[in-house]
Amino acid sequence: MSATDPKQPPDLAAFAEHAARICGAAHVDFSPAGIAAASRTTAPWRSLIAGIVRPSSADEVASLITAAAATATPLYPVSTGKNWGYGDRLPAGDNQVVLDLGRMNRIIEVDETLAYAVVEPGVTQGQLFEHLQARQLALWLDCTGAGPDAGIIGNILERGFGHTPLGDRFRAVSGIEAVLGDGSVLRTGFSGAESSAVGATYPYGLGPVLDGLFSQSNLGVVTRMGVWLMPQPEAFAAAIVFIDDKAVIGPVVDRLRPLRLDGTLPSVVHIANDLRLLSGRMGFPQQRAGGERCLTAELRAALNRELGISPWAMSAGLYGSRRQIRASAARLKTALKGLPVRIRVLGGDTLRQAERAARLLNRFKIGRGLYRQIEDASAAIGLLQGKPTRHFLKGAYWRHPTMPTGADPALDGCGLLWLAPVSPHRGQDIDRLLALVEPLYARHGFDALLTLSLLNGRAIALVSTIAFNAEDQVEARAAADCYETIVKAAMAAGYPPYRLASGAMASAIDPKEPYWQAVARLKAALDPAGVIAPGRYAP
Ligand SMILES: Cc1cc2nc3c(=O)[nH]c(=O)nc-3n(C[C@H](O)[C@H](O)[C@H](O)COP(=O)(O)OP(=O)(O)OC[C@H]3O[C@@H](n4cnc5c(N)ncnc54)[C@H](O)[C@@H]3O)c2cc1C
Repeated sequence: MSATDPKQPPDLAAFAEHAARICGAAHVDFSPAGIAAASRTTAPWRSLIAGIVRPSSADEVASLITAAAATATPLYPVSTGKNWGYGDRLPAGDNQVVLDLGRMNRIIEVDETLAYAVVEPGVTQGQLFEHLQARQLALWLDCTGAGPDAGIIGNILERGFGHTPLGDRFRAVSGIEAVLGDGSVLRTGFSGAESSAVGATYPYGLGPVLDGLFSQSNLGVVTRMGVWLMPQPEAFAAAIVFIDDKAVIGPVVDRLRPLRLDGTLPSVVHIANDLRLLSGRMGFPQQRAGGERCLTAELRAALNRELGISPWAMSAGLYGSRRQIRASAARLKTALKGLPVRIRVLGGDTLRQAERAARLLNRFKIGRGLYRQIEDASAAIGLLQGKPTRHFLKGAYWRHPTMPTGADPALDGCGLLWLAPVSPHRGQDIDRLLALVEPLYARHGFDALLTLSLLNGRAIALVSTIAFNAEDQVEARAAADCYETIVKAAMAAGYPPYRLASGAMASAIDPKEPYWQAVARLKAALDPAGVIAPGRYAP
């Protein structure tokens, strides 16, 4: 990987002294052990972390940035640091100090009437979920599959996707507070106007909309954000569609498009392949694979049969009044009529009854497969209602020797890369993209764990996992090569990734492009000393 060097060598010792005065010595760590812990990664690349500082307020962040500029020390901000599969806490270049914002974890405000929260960067999905539960607020948050310990602000800044109608998470932001490279504080929209009550309800303010400057960028350190929540609907149901024939994926995608566009299916719809679902149930079956690194077609089919997994399965949320849900379910069934798929619509009561029955059977050691199926379904359905779960973290352990339950894939040494090319929401494009990507996985010796995320009715991300054995250097190199090959091939075919791993930014960004030249001019204006995350989404 290439590093973007600051203009002069950093004076780390001087910065560490400043940082200790600003945050307290207990929150500054330049020890080899501290650095080693922060460097634990799921990525096949490495960058050298110089140290870690943990401020507790926006004022401390501003002072640290001023000290960083004075000592030419690059800072790499992370909010909760669970960017698993995208480089974790590793900066895009060497010798950067991780600015860990985890101590800034206040939920500043939740407004039930107007359905929003204002949070600091260290707030996790689990924390906000528990907060809403504890106060018995009739609000749902949008959450990702990354579990309760993953964050809100860090994910939104990466323009990550969740599972509810607010799943295009960056569009549910209103009001960002960020510290710029000169130590000044910028509040976007109306969030800076003391007298204004609309900072977290009306996202634009007057003049240019600057919020986008802080997403997938290195132009500021975000210290606060207004995030919209969803009023708990009167009724909810999950539509699960089992698709046995891959040839039907294109037609399914086409027939769902009008339903996504007109709001019948208001949430991000996910269609996962069997390998993705298998990886949630088990690790790669070394013994049965007979020395192969990928599942053979026969073994894959046998595992699917044993575990009751379909080649593809879709989950979508239906929200509204009971009547609206009945109407949406009917429209979905009509839309998919004639295709060889099985549709199940599960209301909250149906699922609860199924869970109870399955638990009972499981206790008597009957129907264990059914229990696991219902467990899978209830985790997926929980996400559609904004309930964070660790269930899907198991997928990161596909090539890992063990499969712990309280999972942290980076600490546990999993090898994981996500890549997600974006396609128009058209069946022919999805067929083309799958035909491009799947053989590249096979050529590099990896199982293609895939999910189609139907983002907004107009675009679909093919969210693809490369799971590798991080202890095997050959396999790790193959994973890096597989990632770069797929990103390049997909870009050349017109399907660019919506997000990049930190170690792959330099190779995917062309500094000669006018777009990136404009970004460089913005960088020079907002962070003249170039101390915020050099190389992150930047030439
Ligand atoms: C099983 C599994 C499922 C997953 N499911 C999803 C999913 O459904 N959707 C999804 O999007 N991702 C998913 N992920 C990927 C990833 O784990 C999440 O995106 C996670 O939320 C990112 O980590 P974080 O929230 O701790 O953000 P952080 O790691 O804190 O931040 C991410 C990056 O944003 C930048 N940044 C963070 N905070 C700031 C700040 N305050 N100011 C400026 N820049 C900042 C930094 O460069 C940082 O590296 C999944 C991962 C796994 C292993």
